[in-house]
Amino acid sequence: MKRIGLIAGMCVLCLYVQARVIKVDTSLIIKTKNVAEMIESAELAPEEYQHVIKKYRDIYAVALTFYPELRNKNIRIIEKSLSSTLRVRPTLFSLFSKSNRAYKIFIDTLKFNMDHYNNNIRFNAQTGAMGHELAHIIDYETKNNRQMIGMALKYVFSTEYRRKVERQTDSLAAARGLGQQLLVFRQYIHECPEIPVKYKKMKKKFYLSERELRKQLAEMKLND
Ligand SMILES: [Zn+2]
Repeated sequence: MKRIGLIAGMCVLCLYVQARVIKVDTSLIIKTKNVAEMIESAELAPEEYQHVIKKYRDIYAVALTFYPELRNKNIRIIEKSLSSTLRVRPTLFSLFSKSNRAYKIFIDTLKFNMDHYNNNIRFNAQTGAMGHELAHIIDYETKNNRQMIGMALKYVFSTEYRRKVERQTDSLAAARGLGQQLLVFRQYIHECPEIPVKYKKMKKKFYLSERELRKQLAEMKLND
């Protein structure tokens, strides 16, 4: 009897977690079966995304469709152990050439894995995370080399500045149409027991909360 109670309790918990995960506008959730069509209708040429490691290719290509101005940029994806899920930075050699800057997006394979989610939820969470990094590149592209170096220093030494940058980046990704994907990614971070508590706290401190994201999305809908 006790065992049945325990199993029932676990099922309720699973349903609760699942319910929280799908608390998004499902009409805006990308279905993995539609990915090829999305890439095709955005007229993305294979050479724009085929250099990316195969398992990240669709995620990168779909995220790229939300940032048409980045389509011809030199962006590489590299797996690396990180304290965060993803990170982006210009390559050192290209830092001094604003017009020809190249970027590296690093992916922490453990945090980016998200195996316990179904395909659609996982794809959306990963696309949200990738879209956030691409939004950073949009910002970097507006800065000259001196501003880039100044920004990097301020980012490291000023908590307030880092918070401002990360929140603006979330906001830009949401404005580009990746709001639901950011929400799914945020929920993954908060729910996944494998994600270190320290990282969860850092996310809360520096990034837009679910509530703030929902507020921005509601305002965007009103202004449509
Ligand atoms: Zn960021």
